[in-house]
Amino acid sequence: MDTRLPAELDFPLERRLGKPTASKLEKHLHLETVGELLQHFPRKYLKRGELTPIADMPVREEVTLIARVQAISSRRMRQRKGMLVEVTIADDSGTGFGSMSLTFFNGYTAEKQLSVGTRAMFSGKSDLYRGRLTLTNPDFVLLADDDQDPSLALQPVPVYAATAKVPSWTIARSIGLILDSMDWESLQDPVPEDVAHRHHLMPLRRAYELIHRPTEVEEAYRAQNRFRFQEALVLQTALARRRALSAQQEATARPPRPAGLLDRFDADLPFTLTKGQDDVGQTLSTELGQPHPMNRLLQGEVGSGKTVVALRAMLQVIDAGGQAAMLAPTEVLAVQHYHSIRKTLGPLAEGGMLGGDADGTRVVLLTGSMTTAQRKVALLEAASGDAGIIIGTHALLSENVSFYDLGLIVVDEQHRFGVEQRDLLRAKATRPPHLLVMTATPIPRTIAMTVFGDLETSTLSELPAGRAPISTHVVGLVENPAWVNRIWQRAREEIDAGRQIYVVCPKIGEANDDDMPLPADGADAVEDKQRNIASVTAIAELVESVPSLQGTRIGVLHGKLDSTEKTETMAAFTAGEIDLLISTTVIEVGVDVHNATVMVILDADRFGMSQLHQLRGRVGRGGLPGTCLLVTQLEPDHPSRERLDAVASTTDGFELSQKDLELRREGDILGASQSGGKSTLKLLRVIKDEKTISKARIEAREIIDADLHLEQQPSLRAAIMAYLDPEKEAFLERG
Ligand code: ADP
Ligand code: MG
Repeated sequence: MDTRLPAELDFPLERRLGKPTASKLEKHLHLETVGELLQHFPRKYLKRGELTPIADMPVREEVTLIARVQAISSRRMRQRKGMLVEVTIADDSGTGFGSMSLTFFNGYTAEKQLSVGTRAMFSGKSDLYRGRLTLTNPDFVLLADDDQDPSLALQPVPVYAATAKVPSWTIARSIGLILDSMDWESLQDPVPEDVAHRHHLMPLRRAYELIHRPTEVEEAYRAQNRFRFQEALVLQTALARRRALSAQQEATARPPRPAGLLDRFDADLPFTLTKGQDDVGQTLSTELGQPHPMNRLLQGEVGSGKTVVALRAMLQVIDAGGQAAMLAPTEVLAVQHYHSIRKTLGPLAEGGMLGGDADGTRVVLLTGSMTTAQRKVALLEAASGDAGIIIGTHALLSENVSFYDLGLIVVDEQHRFGVEQRDLLRAKATRPPHLLVMTATPIPRTIAMTVFGDLETSTLSELPAGRAPISTHVVGLVENPAWVNRIWQRAREEIDAGRQIYVVCPKIGEANDDDMPLPADGADAVEDKQRNIASVTAIAELVESVPSLQGTRIGVLHGKLDSTEKTETMAAFTAGEIDLLISTTVIEVGVDVHNATVMVILDADRFGMSQLHQLRGRVGRGGLPGTCLLVTQLEPDHPSRERLDAVASTTDGFELSQKDLELRREGDILGASQSGGKSTLKLLRVIKDEKTISKARIEAREIIDADLHLEQQPSLRAAIMAYLDPEKEAFLERG
């Protein structure tokens, strides 16, 4: 593919801006070409006309002011990583004498850019903290001292992502120079003309002008819409192309074999498949039978029965002479899958063994903690083809693992795996294998279209019959201090009735305990110092002395235990030999103990909504109603309580994930690779922009159907290559 950009955008900045500015932009912002600089869009716009004097400042409103820094200090936060920058500013509007404070969590940029005497425009939401007016993490643009009275000019001020060495105004000035000197004639629009026309997009040149130098903020927003569509189109065309290319790849067809393992398995299945399981099963069966690789994402509620769907697909592949590998994110889960799949298969899993079925296959487990001897056997069975199903953790990816004929890869709980890992496993097959990715985190359609855009999606929305409902309650310890005891009593009642309990804590409680989730927003950090976040170690100690729990059997599970201990504890809990299991989120995914009925989550506000949803899905599995208690030390009106209330208000995972998205920032959803640099989605917001993404997807399909290699669309092709640098491509496959 021709990867050259239109010459104009590919132009080195040095030739337009001179060496000093260009090398600063390159060094500090990694901007090297005209195109990269023009695509460095403002993060927001400050409206100059509406400055608020500190003396008149309303509380809890968006405000903009011009002020001078009077004092600045920074200190490390004690309870969590990071630091706090506190700045005092004084009014510079000439109308008042007020001063106020600014707080920046992890304000490295603020610390570098602001010093005593610095004059800047600040914008943020005002609030009171300890009786003093404060802006938390405000946006700001430094003002040159010669910028005498910015309020005279009424144009909005663009705020660029900037650094101390390259402040926002330098960027604005450089972009201005480029805009004035561009050879616009030679600039080709990546959006094909007919598409631009159909969607009423403004011309590219005008869009660049308005997004960087608007006279009204509304104009800038319209320009953003234009680039948003463009971004969606580029992304969707890339994905459509990837799907099309993959559909052309050749794979070994694995059609169903009558009277094979799958048929015999189905005949003995102790339950009836749900309609969803049946439908998805048929889709998978058809696709596995094609000579092209299946690439499918199966998403389904916690407990919707994805495993049996995957197992049936694996059996079909085995019937057709291939092997299936199942990749699980944790050892606990791999071991559990191994046991439950063997149990489900019964004699069918003991091919070639005494008492096993003559036509049966073999299931092997491969994890990091196995002894060398155990490993040898497993490796041999995988390589010889004796094992039809190979289940494992990351250990499956290691170099010395080979397969006889790997036909299907199943990735369980995908979000824990990166694309590199998926690819490592893929590379172990002689021909491209079929791929089934399973996730229990419900993914809204737009995310599925964007993040998993190269996978076709199937959904299991109903739960198997007989599944008991889970009731969820928020237990606020501030309002109900007595509940601490009530929780343990409740646990005891349940244990006396023969049931089991999970107690989940946000942290382990040992030295170097760094797996504690960060609070949802910076504001929590302050309170954090005052409250004691529940840890497995502390709670394990505590329950020993709780009268109502005397004589119960208590187990402890967390990531720092060695894997034998982990496996044994989990096995004991599964066997009912432990009544109450205190753990971290290691039990979050996939663990399936039918007798567990109560889930207590301590300091539940420390977890994300989908995590809480996952966690509670561990109870109510065996036809017994489940209870989930979300315990929190936060005040009833604390903003983070909203998430807990949302989780308690519905058990519909899709509804929840939609709410979750509304409450969270984009970057958290798309993962770490989205935090900065060239690979950031610039304007597109996968939640808000569903309509734009859908429209672009339709156009993209048509473009690719007509012209797979984009020979008629050199500009779009170039935009895709520029946009999808290798790092980005990796991101697209990441979950
Ligand atoms: P998840 O989709 O969360 O991975 P699992 O595959 O672990 O769910 O299934 C949860 C439980 O439901 C398992 O014990 C499984 O045996 C059971 N199950 C799956 N399908 C059905 C069904 N159609 N009817 C009854 N129970 C089922
Ligand atoms: Mg599962």
